[in-house]
Amino acid sequence: MTVQSKPISLLIIYTGGTIGMVQNSLNGSLRPFSFDNILNEIPELKKARYHLSSYTFKPLLDSSNINPGMWIKIAEVIEDNYHRYDGFIILHGTDTMAYSASALSFLLENLKKPVILTGSQLPIDSLRTDAKENLMTAIEIAAHKKGRVSVVQEVAIFFQDKLFRGNRTTKHNAEEFKAFQSFNYPALAESGVHIKYNYSVINDFFSGKDFKAYKVLDKNVAILKIFPGIDQKIVEAILNIQGLRGVVLETFGAGNAPDEPWFLKEINDAIRRGIVIVSVTQCAEGRVEMGMYETSIALEKLGVVSGNDSTTEAALTKLMFVLGRYTSKHDIINDLNRSLRGEITI
Ligand code: ASP
Repeated sequence: MTVQSKPISLLIIYTGGTIGMVQNSLNGSLRPFSFDNILNEIPELKKARYHLSSYTFKPLLDSSNINPGMWIKIAEVIEDNYHRYDGFIILHGTDTMAYSASALSFLLENLKKPVILTGSQLPIDSLRTDAKENLMTAIEIAAHKKGRVSVVQEVAIFFQDKLFRGNRTTKHNAEEFKAFQSFNYPALAESGVHIKYNYSVINDFFSGKDFKAYKVLDKNVAILKIFPGIDQKIVEAILNIQGLRGVVLETFGAGNAPDEPWFLKEINDAIRRGIVIVSVTQCAEGRVEMGMYETSIALEKLGVVSGNDSTTEAALTKLMFVLGRYTSKHDIINDLNRSLRGEITI
């Protein structure tokens, strides 16, 4: 007797982005179109050996309009459908995909199924589109299992030929099909004729506990990028925003900042007012090493938290997440100092 195994079923969550966009006939600008548009352009999808369902967000968005409310909605859709599907694919604009992937990695705890974000640089109906390959490979990855277990059990971005950990990714190219990079963490998989998985770096924060979706993010955060000559009134204005609870401070090199007294006083006053400040490097690659230079020792002494080798996208969404979860400064800083979903290497 042969036992028929259940076909793999995947949910494609369509949020918008170039992948499904069509040109406005009046001015040539691109706007999101329906999911049917995508299906019509890839008839192969209908022949896929997997059971594919879709969920379309309304309205469809250019991802420049994405916000924490949408991230929570996406997390809810995944939570509601978690036991019905083997994996999830999120079609998303590339502009803010790294922010969304980072936010979702924090909202979705103890995933045992893949959540793969993808999109494209050219719309699916354009001749040279990168959408088909991106979507078809994302589907293959989301469906890939060893025995009954999904190989990828985390939030990831698949683009062009690489699968990256979502919260390690940055959009670094607005022109090439290779739009994303993960500067501080190796690719989880590479696709060529075969899809080669880098097993030693996938799911390395896996806990074995039950899946849980969180529904709170605190938007009272800001990014303060320092630059030579930054004026006191800029720093003062940002750090005194009413209700502000957290700041990602984009520092130079290994976490350095001016050690002029006015600057340190603004930082000190903000921390004493209860604002949590996390330092990340402005460099694409490398990490904050507080105390390596005199210009970072001062920040460390004042209580600035090291973002280690975090991307700005991951640091910002992690702040939103931990500020949404806790009120106690001790708990907030405790979580910032550890890796929650593989977003930093300590
Ligand atoms: N503006 C588009 C978006 O992020 C760009 C893209 O999808 O590539 O929605």
